[in-house]
Amino acid sequence: MIQSDFHIHSEYSYDATLKLSEIAEGAAACGFTRIGITDHANYNDPPFLSDARRSAAAVKEAQKKYPFMLSGVELTPIQKTQFDYIAKHGTREGYVLPTGADRYGLELAMTKEEMVSLGMRYAIGASHWRTDTIGTGEGDGDTESLMRELFRQQLWLAQDERVTILGHPWFHGRAPWYQDFSMIPRTMQNELCAALLENGKCAECNTGVMLRFEERERYQYAEYLREMLESGIRITFGSDSHKAYNDNRKGTGRGDIEIEKYLLAAGFKDGDFYTLRDEDLW
Ligand SMILES: [Zn+2]
Ligand SMILES: [Zn+2]
Repeated sequence: MIQSDFHIHSEYSYDATLKLSEIAEGAAACGFTRIGITDHANYNDPPFLSDARRSAAAVKEAQKKYPFMLSGVELTPIQKTQFDYIAKHGTREGYVLPTGADRYGLELAMTKEEMVSLGMRYAIGASHWRTDTIGTGEGDGDTESLMRELFRQQLWLAQDERVTILGHPWFHGRAPWYQDFSMIPRTMQNELCAALLENGKCAECNTGVMLRFEERERYQYAEYLREMLESGIRITFGSDSHKAYNDNRKGTGRGDIEIEKYLLAAGFKDGDFYTLRDEDLW
């Protein structure tokens, strides 16, 4: 059912260890025809920007041997006021949201020009945490407000020209809706779908996130992705590999095979997953 993988972390991500050769060989063994390396560029500070540059340079070299490998990046929305602070001070250290400053503005770590100049061909835009409480000492708040904040970020990503794929929709490390995905209001789901469609963005089926859920939520999530597909949104696959390639997180088998059961139950069939084409890339 799955032929390509557009969300993979290599040793150039702070939280991953995979060598590009291991990734290429693992993906070829899965029969994948096109893959993309998407190391993290979380912030516009020197450690993240240098990881992104090293990743792009290494992929450029590896492509000589593995022409099916693309250079991409995973970007996460950050608070614009924090972004400006980092641009000025070169670090996140010591950041506090000044009284009266905008907590809702959003930004991504790199401009499109920077990414293109590095040889990157596409970007995953993915929410990971609340940005409106950064620098305030406030926590995640209640479920309602956390959900609204994730929705706000994802709508913004759906409209940003740098985003090719909305990565792992609705992911949050401690999301209460992993208990029951249906707690997210239909209006939010529909509005996000409409924004993705209108802006020609892909959405991602991410094994790392799906296998984090309990059984019932896996089925619910597959149905949610299926609805996105039926609305006309192209769904890409992302293993989100970090330490072993396309692992099912128990170390006992392949992630794409493990999630196939849920995808089949939701009505996915061969050819439903989208492989980015040259015309989709920068
Ligand atoms: Zn992510
Ligand atoms: Zn990732």
